[in-house]
Amino acid sequence: MTTTPAPAVDRDLLARLHAAETQRFVDAHPACARLAEAGRAHMPYGVPMSWMAKWPGPFAVHVQEASGARFTCADGIEHADLCLGDTGAMSGHAPAATVAAVTAQASRGLTSMLPTADAAVVAAELSSRFGAGPSRVDRWQFTLTATDANRHVLRYARHLTGRPRVVVMDFCYHGSVDEAFATLDTHGGVVPRRGTIGAPVPPDLTTRVVPFNDVDALRAALAHGDVAAVLLEPALTNIGIVLPEPGYLDAVRALTREHGTWMVVDETHTLCAGPGGCTDAWGLDPDVVVVGKTIGGGVPCAAFGLTLELADAVQRSIELEDIDVGGVGGTLAGNALSMAATRATLTEVLTPAAFAHMEDLAVRWTGGVQDALDATGLPWHVTRLGARAEYAFGGRAPRDGAEAAAADDFALQQYLHLQALTHGVLLTPFHNMALMSPATTQADVDRHSEAFAQATAALLGR
Ligand code: PMP
Repeated sequence: MTTTPAPAVDRDLLARLHAAETQRFVDAHPACARLAEAGRAHMPYGVPMSWMAKWPGPFAVHVQEASGARFTCADGIEHADLCLGDTGAMSGHAPAATVAAVTAQASRGLTSMLPTADAAVVAAELSSRFGAGPSRVDRWQFTLTATDANRHVLRYARHLTGRPRVVVMDFCYHGSVDEAFATLDTHGGVVPRRGTIGAPVPPDLTTRVVPFNDVDALRAALAHGDVAAVLLEPALTNIGIVLPEPGYLDAVRALTREHGTWMVVDETHTLCAGPGGCTDAWGLDPDVVVVGKTIGGGVPCAAFGLTLELADAVQRSIELEDIDVGGVGGTLAGNALSMAATRATLTEVLTPAAFAHMEDLAVRWTGGVQDALDATGLPWHVTRLGARAEYAFGGRAPRDGAEAAAADDFALQQYLHLQALTHGVLLTPFHNMALMSPATTQADVDRHSEAFAQATAALLGR
């Protein structure tokens, strides 16, 4: 039997296709171009945060209005939004229940450093979603970002265990958390991740890095006895999607318990797996759950939940007199607006029924991508986790972050994202991910399938 070699992408053709899409984008977006120019007067790259420069195209699309799963840019073009604020808007844009709650709260006061009635309701809701494991993650605190939630949890873990180090997965991302900007070099050494800006100390002083799905590496890392916490996503989602192999997360739980190390599950993205994230969907039993981004329906809010036992231990260990200056806090944390938005989003928008709809659509999106790959023979791969799916330029599902990173292809990604954009579809700028919201429709998904079929055929000169 002979096998046909997988077709390869011609780089000159890729460059020509990219140039053509760039021209199409520029021609279609004169108003966005003017806004981008105005932005350059007083902002580096012309954008309010530097990473927004990474959107494909010579300038960022500027949003006029976003509603449900769509947004209209300043040029009046409606886009299907499969990026959804890289999960910040997984609830859909401006969901009616959240808008109503925010509107009502806005005239009753936005922030006062005092609790409102909503916080206890939100904490109970989070406990019912994430607290089913035997250890019962049942005590919640709130921040404005998942980054802050992760940072605070690592402080508590060091504080209670008295240990200096943290274990993270190679090629993880947990927000701008210093300890997590570390990767493995080819000799297994811990080095700053490429692109790290201004690391406070060499990362091997704070961090041990292990490949995802590698039980032996984790065992060796914990054997030093100096690890306060393992911080991980239950499936990597920030270097493409890397799913855990059967038994891996059980092994993480068993090893962390054996070594008195906290198992901290960051569900900020993997909430896409269901109402209680992977923790609930896969029956995990972590010590801590972190969740952020979308729980406020777009209003900044994040949370971390501790088991009752750990929360009690934290409480016993901190003097009331010092509670505001210990490094865990944030003046606007738990503010009235965030809590009102989060209560409405969790109880009325990101409901179990909504997740079922979102997952169906993610299956459809995955099918559309797979059809195009089958039609072209391109040796790429598509993976789904609940309401989120992603294609990658490697021929098989990666086992760890390094494998996923090796399959990355920035030029190809920039072309595919720009081509999607000129066909009215927004993908997340950092990888080839599509996310579904309760408001997403089959038509939104099919718009991507059509564009992707055209792009992949064009890449082979068809
Ligand atoms: N945790 C995970 C898993 C994330 O993917 C991110 C952001 N992509 C964060 C934390 C940080 O979220 P934020 O930028 O909202 O602080």
